[in-house]
Amino acid sequence: MKDNLTQRREFLKRLGLVVGAVAVSPFFKIREAFSALIEEKKGLALSLAYVHDATKSDEWKKLKKKNDDVCANCTFYSPVDKVNGKCTIFPTGEVAAKGWCRTFNRKVDAKKA
Ligand code: SF4
Repeated sequence: MKDNLTQRREFLKRLGLVVGAVAVSPFFKIREAFSALIEEKKGLALSLAYVHDATKSDEWKKLKKKNDDVCANCTFYSPVDKVNGKCTIFPTGEVAAKGWCRTFNRKVDAKKA
């Protein structure tokens, strides 16, 4: 059987974990808000004809773009992980590595298809 002091310590430890979790949760929400993929059919993304999958864009096809003319090979792109990245044109969200928009500008060192 645990004494009062041990029980109190365990209670305070658990309380600390709960308070810590509550304290850091806003940071996860902020990260979430800035890491979600931007919406295709909204605001600037709509104006620039941004799509998460370049091959599904009629404009991309019409311009006879190559398969590697995608965000991952654009000067404005910096990867966050293998599938998404940040784009300086859309600072509040992420774009898909295989996405595309009208401001695509091929990186000089991008691999050729
Ligand atoms: S500017 Fe480049 S990285 Fe940004 S959305 Fe357009 S193609 Fe993708």
